[in-house]
Amino acid sequence: SVDKDRANNVAKIKVVVRKRPLNKKEIAKKEEDIITIDSNALMVHEKKLKVDLTEYVEKHEFFFDAVLNEDVSNEEVYSETVEPIVPLIFNRTKATCFAYGQTGSGKTYTMQPLPLKASQDILRLMYHTYRNQGFQLFVSFFEIYGGKVFDLLNDRKKLCMREDGKQQVCIVGLQEYKVLGVQTIKELIERGNATRSTGTTGANEESSRSHAILQLAIKRSADGSESKPARPVGKLSFIDLAGSERGADTTDNDKQTRMEGAEINKSLLALKECIRALDNDQGHIPFRGSKLTEVLRDSFVGDSRTVMISCISPSSGSCEHTLNTLRYADRVK
Ligand code: ADP
Ligand code: MG
Repeated sequence: SVDKDRANNVAKIKVVVRKRPLNKKEIAKKEEDIITIDSNALMVHEKKLKVDLTEYVEKHEFFFDAVLNEDVSNEEVYSETVEPIVPLIFNRTKATCFAYGQTGSGKTYTMQPLPLKASQDILRLMYHTYRNQGFQLFVSFFEIYGGKVFDLLNDRKKLCMREDGKQQVCIVGLQEYKVLGVQTIKELIERGNATRSTGTTGANEESSRSHAILQLAIKRSADGSESKPARPVGKLSFIDLAGSERGADTTDNDKQTRMEGAEINKSLLALKECIRALDNDQGHIPFRGSKLTEVLRDSFVGDSRTVMISCISPSSGSCEHTLNTLRYADRVK
């Protein structure tokens, strides 16, 4: 069928790298752009010192499914990553899109517009292509912080997870809103973002230690009517991951920071292992490695799609973090 052909044409796992432009701060510090891009190849030009203190450049080359330069717009990011997947979720596919990278690399900038664009497309399909077929759209938005789940659409209420007999995980009491139009989803996203953990010290400080997860769920009522409860069909999850450098906070003097760092480290490693297992079509997927992967369990089984957007800063000052991000992305596939 047409649907099946289309599904087969969308890669099971796609790894994309997005480079942001140098910012004012980096320019002021005379930092240089050390990233060059040539179609899907990316080169890091790492400046190093010899024993006699003369400078030399070590080049590191990587290849990905796509490499997006600093002039690529959010619209183009959407068409490259999520757009091809949207129609599949009407046919039971579960898809997940991650933004990975150090704090300040552009994860939130990249991730924030995607659910809105996706829901516009979903609503269009619902009201035109699949009209009167009983499809409904729901949104939920939560955060994993220090291994605990908080509802971003319900005043950061702390929630528990439960697994039913059919290996389905559910987050007990998670608010799910039915969406009829784009305006509703816009407001819910804004509300959730405002509810994300932000410390007293700085806007990015606390949110960089949490994973924010926005889910768009397609459901369908059995007889196409509104009277019976709708059953889950497909799902699209958008995950703004904790800053990858936070996983290294495991030797910090502050105990809280250390514990959070260990949790982040664990979750990012577990995520990598799960995606690799998906890629190898292994029967066993190590979900239990972390809260993040446990929550995503039902998105990894069955017909699933994964998009990893690795965000990098171009600046020489971020070289080490950038190499870590690229190596992680490289290992995912
Ligand atoms: P992160 O979420 O990874 O910590 P942000 O998304 O908050 O990083 O981005 C850090 C800053 O850089 C923000 O001010 C953001 O607007 C800017 N920025 C990030 N990516 C881009 C881009 N591709 N083009 C222009 N500005 C960007
Ligand atoms: Mg962010």
